[in-house]
Parts: sequence; structure tokens; C-alpha cells
Amino acid sequence: MTTAPVDVDTARRDYAALVERGLSLDITRGKPSPRQLDLSADLLTLPNGQYKAEDGTDTRNYGGLKGLPELRRVFAGALQVPVDQLFAAGNSSLELMHDTIAQAMLSTLPGAPRRWADEPRIAMLCPVPGYDRHFALAERFGIELIPVPMTETGPDMDVVERLVAEDAAVKGIWCVPKYSNPTGVTFSAEVAGRLAAMPAAAPDFRIIWDNAYAVHHLTDDEPELADILALCAEAGNPDRAFVFGSTSKITFAGAGVGFFGASEANLAWWQSVLSKRTIGPDKVNQLRHALFLKDADGVRALMRKHAELIAPKFAAVDRILTEELSDLASWTKPTGGYFISLTVPEGTAKEVVRLAKEAGVALTPAGATHPYGNDPADAVIRIAPTFPELAEVEEAVRALAVCVRLAVAQRA
Ligand code: PMP
Repeated sequence: MTTAPVDVDTARRDYAALVERGLSLDITRGKPSPRQLDLSADLLTLPNGQYKAEDGTDTRNYGGLKGLPELRRVFAGALQVPVDQLFAAGNSSLELMHDTIAQAMLSTLPGAPRRWADEPRIAMLCPVPGYDRHFALAERFGIELIPVPMTETGPDMDVVERLVAEDAAVKGIWCVPKYSNPTGVTFSAEVAGRLAAMPAAAPDFRIIWDNAYAVHHLTDDEPELADILALCAEAGNPDRAFVFGSTSKITFAGAGVGFFGASEANLAWWQSVLSKRTIGPDKVNQLRHALFLKDADGVRALMRKHAELIAPKFAAVDRILTEELSDLASWTKPTGGYFISLTVPEGTAKEVVRLAKEAGVALTPAGATHPYGNDPADAVIRIAPTFPELAEVEEAVRALAVCVRLAVAQRA
């Protein structure tokens, strides 16, 4: 990336004209648009008087801690978890991740010497740029966050291996292995293999494999993701991975179903703690989802319709950034997921976000992609183009470009 000089007067004039327009746009969070949510409108009329699961279970009643088998079957392939090792629970995955960390604090994990709450110090590795809610979740439990650079094939494994081998306080690593938030990176087979097999000083080290974008392709070029549970088992670390997923960006965000997959030992632990917390999940919603999605092909067909709606928005961001900022910035070109990661000249990201806010364009706070909200280079801005209409995305990204040019001109 070259940082060509920007003419301050032009940049100021363009920005003043932008503010003049009184925009009110928001590209902060990765939410599905109303038109995407409309794709699953039939869920609202299901299960339509039917309340029995395939095994005759009355879904209106208590029980069935593991979730309905017919729904777990739909997602077992996409999440690469054998049906028997996949729980369907809750309305989404973040609460399951939160619960898992909270339970690891309170109840000794398989392989752990003691409860995490009794450890003098606990740390987790955070590939950066990464997902702010992962970091906030761990921070809330007093877990130390250690940034690790992301590469084009996943976290920098030389750094990960060293930290995990040396420091017994490092209990886990956050991973969004497919179409990562916000870089769009899919972990290579080599990275997954090294994660599964690396020596860990902590016997209860866990990979938090948050496969939130397992089926969220934007193109037909679908990258293969390695099967982390199988790799861990083969490497002699069968309890190392916790797999998460959800229907949030498939059907309804926040009114969907979450999934948790792990080894038999981890599941026995999970089931024993979960049974104190709930008598069973919302099986009516699970039945509704199973009837609506039907099978893996049903999910695939629905995801194609999502892609038809959102791929043009990703293309628009790329096109406008190419037109406006080729000389100043670099950005990712994801083939799936929900985000684009824009890298602006060092020391300008915060100012860009501030300028954009003043001009009526809400961006994710600079630094949110890093632990403690601290991007040392002050360079990464996450763009979430799915929620606004296409014309609004275009307008927001053009406005963003004006802000980048002014921030760079001011700094020069
Ligand atoms: N994980 C990642 C990587 C995400 O990007 C998101 C949503 N932005 C979530 C989890 C939240 O998922 P859920 O709705 O299933 O809690």
C-alpha cells in the first residue's frame, strides 16, 4: 500500500460537503437485512399445529437436553460434528460460549487440574483483528487477552505454538475458522492441524472453534475447512476443541438455535452442568427450524438466496474502495461471512471513525477488533455491509473514503 499525499484543501472541501448532506447511515454491526430475514418468514407460521418430533416427543413439554435429533442432523455436516456429539441449545451461540467459559470457571473441565476460577492467572489467545464480543466475554471473567497476529491462512502459528507451550496460564484460543470476523480468512488445513497437535503447557487448553460462518458463502468457490474434532482426536488431544455455531445468520438473528459440539468427555461435563441450569431447550423452535430447513440441501438453498442479497453489497464496497482509496488503504476481499476489514494508514483509524460519526455515518469503533479495544497501529476499521440497503452501503463507503482522505491529509 502506498500512502500518496492528499491535498488538504480538497479533502477539507469534500468533507464539508459531506457533512452538509446530513447523512444518517450505519455500517457498524453484522446484522442480516430485513430482506434476508424475510427469506425465513415461513418460520413464523411453523410448526403449524404439529408439535411432535420425529421420535414422537411432544416438543411443547420439558426435556430433551441435547436438542432435537432432526435439527442436529441438519447441521452436523456443516459444523463437522458427528450428530451424537452435537447439542442444539439456546437461541444463538454467544450465550453458549459465555456459558462454557463460565462453567469452566466453576466446574473442573475434563483434563483440568482445577476449576479455572481457582487458577492464579488465566489467559486466552486472541487472533487480531478479531471479534470484539469474544474479547469482551473473556475480559468480563478477568481472563487476560493476548493478541496474536492473523495471517492469510489463520493465526500466526509460530507465535501461537510458542505461547501455548511456554505458558500454562494460556487456557484457550478464540478462533473463527471460516470467513473470519472481520478478515474473511478461512484457516488452512496446516493451521488447523498445528492447533490440534501443538504441545500445550495447560492440560485443559481449549480451542474455541466458533464456526459462525460455516455456510455463509458469497461465491461458488467454497473453501474446505479442516475437521477440528477429528484432528484433535487423531493428535491425541481429543478434548481440545469446543465447536460452536448457530442459525443466527441463516434464519432469524437472536430467534434461532445455537449448537455446541465436542468430545464425549466434554459433552458429559457439559451435560452435567447444563442439567442444573435448564430442563431442556426450546424444542418448538428447533422443530420449526427442522421443518423449515429440512436438510443440508435446504440450508444450502437458503444460503444462496442470502448470497444473492448480500454479495452485491460486498462487491459495491470493493468497487468503491478501489475507486477511492487504492492509493491509501488496503482491504480484504472475503468470499463469505459478514465483514470486510479495511486497513488505513497507521494512526488514522480513530480519526476516520470520529470524522465519519460527525458526518452521520456510524462505523464500528476503531480498536474494537483488538483486545481491550486497543489497536496499537490504530489502522483497522471493520466494515459490515449486510444490513443497509445497497444504495446506503454505497453512500456510506463513499463517505468513509472522504473521511480517510481528510484524516490522512490532516496527519501529513
Ligand atoms: N461469532 C461470530 C464470529 C460472530 O460474528 C457473531 C455475530 N456477529 C456471533 C458469534 C454471534 O452469534 P450468535 O448470534 O449465534 O450468538
